[in-house]
Amino acid sequence: MQVAILGGGASGLMAAVTAAEGGHAVTVFERQARVGRKLLATGNGRCNLSNMQPLAGRYHGQRPDFARPALDAFGAQAARGFFRGLGLLTVEEPSGRVYPFSDQAGSVVDVLRFAAEARGAVLRTGEEVLSLRRSGEDFLVETAAERLPFERVLVCCGGLAGGKLGGTKSGYELLASLGHSRTALFPALVQLKTPPEKVRALKGVRADARVRVEKAGETLAESAGEVQFTEYGLSGPAVFEVSRAACAAGEGVTARLDLLRGVSAQELEALLAARCRDFPLLTGENLLTGLLHNRLGRVALREAGFPLERPLADFNPRALARVAGVVKDFVLPVTGNLGFENAQVTAGGVSTDEFRPETLESRLVPGLYAAGEVLDVDGDCGGFNLQWAWASGRLAGRLL
Ligand SMILES: Cc1cc2nc3c(=O)[nH]c(=O)nc-3n(C[C@H](O)[C@H](O)[C@H](O)COP(=O)(O)OP(=O)(O)OC[C@H]3O[C@@H](n4cnc5c(N)ncnc54)[C@H](O)[C@@H]3O)c2cc1C
Repeated sequence: MQVAILGGGASGLMAAVTAAEGGHAVTVFERQARVGRKLLATGNGRCNLSNMQPLAGRYHGQRPDFARPALDAFGAQAARGFFRGLGLLTVEEPSGRVYPFSDQAGSVVDVLRFAAEARGAVLRTGEEVLSLRRSGEDFLVETAAERLPFERVLVCCGGLAGGKLGGTKSGYELLASLGHSRTALFPALVQLKTPPEKVRALKGVRADARVRVEKAGETLAESAGEVQFTEYGLSGPAVFEVSRAACAAGEGVTARLDLLRGVSAQELEALLAARCRDFPLLTGENLLTGLLHNRLGRVALREAGFPLERPLADFNPRALARVAGVVKDFVLPVTGNLGFENAQVTAGGVSTDEFRPETLESRLVPGLYAAGEVLDVDGDCGGFNLQWAWASGRLAGRLL
């Protein structure tokens, strides 16, 4: 069959290899000058391509179960086996994250490209699909240069996240033109903004913290790990992990950080009391020295309402409890996020009610398939989004 794949990103390349393996005549249309441009930027250029932790519960959207059949058929182990078959070795880190052994995202793109082309797929780069129409039994795929007929079309155009790397609305629009609806879109796996005056002094500081986001006293999400302070707010893996829930909740969200998660409030108070007893002539500036990054310690002290110059001899147990309270529960209002431009994934997408989970074929338009981020499926931080791109590209590419 003549098959058009719209988008030469993660899911599109996987679908191309699969459909070409199935003996189909595959043409991939990619609007950018090269395929896999976003893939090159993943995992800070290392490409966190999957995760060996159980996949259940890691995906979101209006119907999180929609992703199950694709992921059951092609999980992390299968993805690693597939890449091994293409000559790409992978390694698992203790967290379960999987990376190419080469540590280069470029090698993931390369092996997919080699495999697609070796199986006869034609990669038409620099060609954006502008419209998609039904014409009898066929589809007409239109670019600026021509209009071509195909028997099957796979929409693998990705989502809005990572604008500079190719994030676009195009896939949603092409599917809408054939009658598909979509859910609301919002950025996920994204940096959170907080009042700048609260964090400016902390720019560049990293902490191993527990992060909880809440609204009206209700916990929306929790995570622990690296938090990075930036001039606009919070970044880092632990923040990314709670960002989806924070963005989905809209206004009135608060981030609460436990900056010393390995030490209880009582233990911390005892440590601070010992510091004051042993070094009464030091000042508040050094109360938290050795416990937190110096700058974080100073900000926490100010947040507790104490001047840096105050002698440690003047801190009574109540004052120390207040400082410990701030360290264990550093509160930052969330005022926004850094948007799709900086997000790693789009939450929301084309309605999964309109696609069959066992095949990824449209229920509305037979012969039309979709895979990857364009669908209303998004995963947690840690390789889960690429795992979905592989699994869904693999399933759609089988053209069942
Ligand atoms: C900075 C960054 C880092 C990330 N790191 C990770 C990570 O380490 N691990 C992980 O699991 N996930 C990561 N992600 C998310 C992951 O990259 C995406 O979820 C995944 O690439 C989605 O695959 P896709 O095939 O749906 O879309 P994409 O890979 O975005 O591919 C879609 C392609 O379609 C093309 N296209 C769009 N419209 C058209 C059109 N009309 N005509 C022709 N071509 C079109 C686009 O140019 C693009 O190349 C990261 C994302 C970003 C932005």
